Amino acid sequence: MPRHIVCLTVDFDALSPFVARGLVSPSALSRGEFSLVGADRLLRLFKHHGVRSTWFTPGVEIDTYPDMARRVVDEGHEMAHHGYTHRPPNTIGRAEEESELVRGNEAIARLTGRRARGYRSPSWELSPQSIELLLRHGFDYESSLMGHDYLPYHARLGDVISADQPPRFGPPTRLVEMPISWTLDDFPHFEYLRLPNSLQPGLMSARAVMENWLDDFLYMVQTADWGVLTYTFHPFVIGRGHRIMMLERLIERMKEGGAVFLRMDEAVDEFLARRAAAA
Ligand SMILES: [Zn+2]
Repeated sequence: MPRHIVCLTVDFDALSPFVARGLVSPSALSRGEFSLVGADRLLRLFKHHGVRSTWFTPGVEIDTYPDMARRVVDEGHEMAHHGYTHRPPNTIGRAEEESELVRGNEAIARLTGRRARGYRSPSWELSPQSIELLLRHGFDYESSLMGHDYLPYHARLGDVISADQPPRFGPPTRLVEMPISWTLDDFPHFEYLRLPNSLQPGLMSARAVMENWLDDFLYMVQTADWGVLTYTFHPFVIGRGHRIMMLERLIERMKEGGAVFLRMDEAVDEFLARRAAAA
């Protein structure tokens, strides 16, 4: 019996991605503050449609907005790790990277009573030591890589990459990779962002983006008996009225197409159970 899983994931970034980019004016921070409005709208939408989701949340946001973080957990969603601050691991060095893992897990444990099972790196950048650190700190899955669109796989450890030789791939680990894609992320499509050396125009038509997002689901349905398609939303981006309306239409269309909405930890467990049964 075919089974097509959809993970709606929320990166609950409020002030932290702006602070991490050095954008600390009251104007910039107010953009992040809109996350509380967006998070409320997402939670009400998910409740209305019976959708369980996963919220990758920097520890600093849990400490800044404990009431909203508590509500996410109380409403049945998974709280997962997204660093403590929002600084990407490939920019901070090994010791800081490990400290971020520890502090983020402490914030999640204060909230839920247990460490996170899943990790997603800020800005989807891993360092060469990230997989090793995630294994050492007991994570079950990772969701920052793009090696497939709808099939989970096992993250490799110890790839050797050089400019003048073919790559030497390390062995797969027990860490499950739940792949993502910029095309299934709201941020590049919608968020207008001006930095000193770059401009992200964003502000796309929500209807046009929805057609792409729906077609990726329909392609999985056409081509696979089982798969997990992961979408990534930021409350301060998707939370605007016309985008929330689009997201509701997308959920309805995917339901008509037989989508099963799961938390990412649930999808990971199903992937591992299928692997075990097939072995
Ligand atoms: Zn983020």
